[in-house]
Amino acid sequence: MAGKCPHCGKIITSLRFKSVDASEPFGLSWKAITYNCPFCNSVLGCQIDPIAVKTDIVNAIAKKLSI
Ligand SMILES: [Zn+2]
Repeated sequence: MAGKCPHCGKIITSLRFKSVDASEPFGLSWKAITYNCPFCNSVLGCQIDPIAVKTDIVNAIAKKLSI
């Protein structure tokens, strides 16, 4: 993915990502990550952290099975 940052206009060849919490009003919260421009640090995108979600699912299943 090579594109220009819409904020500072520099060509992005790498991204920084940062862990954040994504929560909803009813109290559920997820680990999420944002993708940031390495030059101006603007957030270019975000998603639920796939590794944290996997860990949460494995833990939930293990708990159900009482491992
Ligand atoms: Zn930028």
